[in-house]
Amino acid sequence: MAEFDLKKFYTSKREYLNPRTGKLRKGFVRISFQEFSDWVAAAGSPERCHYCGTSSGQCAKLFELQDGGNRYQATRGGRRGRRLELDRRDASKAYDELDNLVWCCYWCNNAKSNFFTEDEFMPVAKAIGQALSLICEQGNPK
Ligand SMILES: [Zn+2]
Repeated sequence: MAEFDLKKFYTSKREYLNPRTGKLRKGFVRISFQEFSDWVAAAGSPERCHYCGTSSGQCAKLFELQDGGNRYQATRGGRRGRRLELDRRDASKAYDELDNLVWCCYWCNNAKSNFFTEDEFMPVAKAIGQALSLICEQGNPK
């Protein structure tokens, strides 16, 4: 993945309690950058969505398609979707349980949410992957 700053990504995934809103963003609590970095080295760099197989290059293309043509901007105001994200396969486990983490695309992360189990989500992911692949080939609708 080009221009992927692992340290910056790790920092953005630290658990954070917003003092203004009181809202907790779940993330790493005890895992150090080195432990995360070792996990990435073992798990592989973020190249493809664990669920649907969409590549990081396809994610970037899908993200850019939102800026032109008649496709609605759907990636949370452009804050997400450009690259693969981390997902907890079992959302009841903490981010610190590294063997529970996988790289996945924004579209799968958003659709899976904390509702589907990994097994329940796989047929949905297959359909998402097919649709995203088709969009990458055909571009925006006319
Ligand atoms: Zn996906």
